[in-house]
Amino acid sequence: MSRNKLTIYNTLSSKKEIFTPIYEDFVGMYVCGPTVYSNVHLGNCRTFISFDMVYRYLLHLGYKVRYIRNITDVGHITTDTNDEVDRIGEQAKLEKMEPMEIAQKYTVYFHQIMEQFNNLSPSIEPTATGHIIEQIEWIKEILNNGFAYEINGSVYFDVLKFNDSYNYGILSGRKIEDLLSGTRDLDGQDEKRNPLDFALWKNASPEHIMKWSSPWGMGFPGWHLECTAMSSKYLGNEFDIHGGGMDLKFPHHECEIAQSTSANGKTPVQYWMHANMLTLNGKKMSKSTGNTLNPDELFSGKNQLLDKAFQPMVVRFFMLQAHYSSILDFTSEALQASEKGFNKLMEAIKTINLLPFSEKSSVDVKSLVDKFFSAMNDDFNTPILIAHLFDAVKIINSVKDGKEFLTQNDLLFLKENVECFVYNVLGLKTNQDEQNNNKLNEVMDLIIDLRKKARDSKDWPLSDFIRDRLVQVGITIKDNKESTSWI
Ligand code: AMP
Ligand code: ZN
Repeated sequence: MSRNKLTIYNTLSSKKEIFTPIYEDFVGMYVCGPTVYSNVHLGNCRTFISFDMVYRYLLHLGYKVRYIRNITDVGHITTDTNDEVDRIGEQAKLEKMEPMEIAQKYTVYFHQIMEQFNNLSPSIEPTATGHIIEQIEWIKEILNNGFAYEINGSVYFDVLKFNDSYNYGILSGRKIEDLLSGTRDLDGQDEKRNPLDFALWKNASPEHIMKWSSPWGMGFPGWHLECTAMSSKYLGNEFDIHGGGMDLKFPHHECEIAQSTSANGKTPVQYWMHANMLTLNGKKMSKSTGNTLNPDELFSGKNQLLDKAFQPMVVRFFMLQAHYSSILDFTSEALQASEKGFNKLMEAIKTINLLPFSEKSSVDVKSLVDKFFSAMNDDFNTPILIAHLFDAVKIINSVKDGKEFLTQNDLLFLKENVECFVYNVLGLKTNQDEQNNNKLNEVMDLIIDLRKKARDSKDWPLSDFIRDRLVQVGITIKDNKESTSWI
């Protein structure tokens, strides 16, 4: 199945499009990373799992992917209501820490959680604070082109001026008149020319801790600019895929497009991808409203919403059972159903290794595997892929029961592809306890073999030594007529 069949729903055109990267064989992908001022919640995790799956499938298709996911460790965040807050600075005050301590603390936590969910590390994980110089260069360019203005040591993007030549709303479909009617009048306190204008650079008050010198005085960058600076630095002014959660489409991504276009006349991204929200009680999971669930609570079961603890892989499987662009509601019952499905899938993978093969096959496994690819090529349709994987589970169990049969080649082909799609593409793995158990079983097989060798050569002291040492670690060996077992 060739990779030129991959289609992606492009938010920019609101259509599914055939994916053609700018440079054949190479893909540049940028995904907005976390703002590290608090523990990453399960909603954030869903978006990062969605793009991890996209990254994995692109790799599986043989692309050489440069995947950039940044860390937002400074910045003036613009909220949905166009208010501006310095979240990291605020949290630093609250926890009585340095802003950089806050950023470090929550970055470490973020990495731990990403690892537990088996997300691959991005190729580069740049920080906003590490790219202040690049951001200043962008501001100079935008000012030079007349699409920004400086006032009192701050620089603002001039949205109306931009919209005269280009389209502010190209991504989100919002109309400037509607946006204007939705904003409050400037009350005279605001130094912006227009409420829609957004900060590229903010003048820092003396007590502000995170600040840098710039041509406009001491200050710090606006939030939207960091992604423009970092994506262009590592992927160029035009690159293939830009992703993030649906809530970033406006204003964040709209502003990124405006910044790039005003500086170099080019829209930066070929394919905009937006992952949909995880909801809790039907409402967006969000730190600011407190409607959240932390991954740790899920793994420990310590939350009143949960009847039990869930393994990270069960949670990952639950998320991938929905299409990345659909809203997914979290419930304990849904997770329990996913746990059953996950266990059934993993059990079937173990069973494949034990299946007998036949002279002929009674099922066409090639066309089934083609369906795995077709599902993923259709805008990364993981729920359909999972449905086809369960078709494979059915076949595996039928072969086990002697109701269907497969040749050695077909069996191998099915095994390779099921394992590849489950492990490499969906990024699932057997849970840790089970992995440890499997290892222990193998080590015990080895010890029992060694002991048998000792006994065969009548080396009784060695055979007794092995048995006694095992007793010391709580393992008893039992010799039966046919075999040796252990408990
Ligand atoms: P933040 O740290 O707030 O910048 O968010 C990091 C990522 O998580 C962004 O791509 C957000 O769009 C995404 N995100 C935030 N809330 C949710 C949610 N409830 N469901 C899915 N993704 C979310
Ligand atoms: Zn971003």
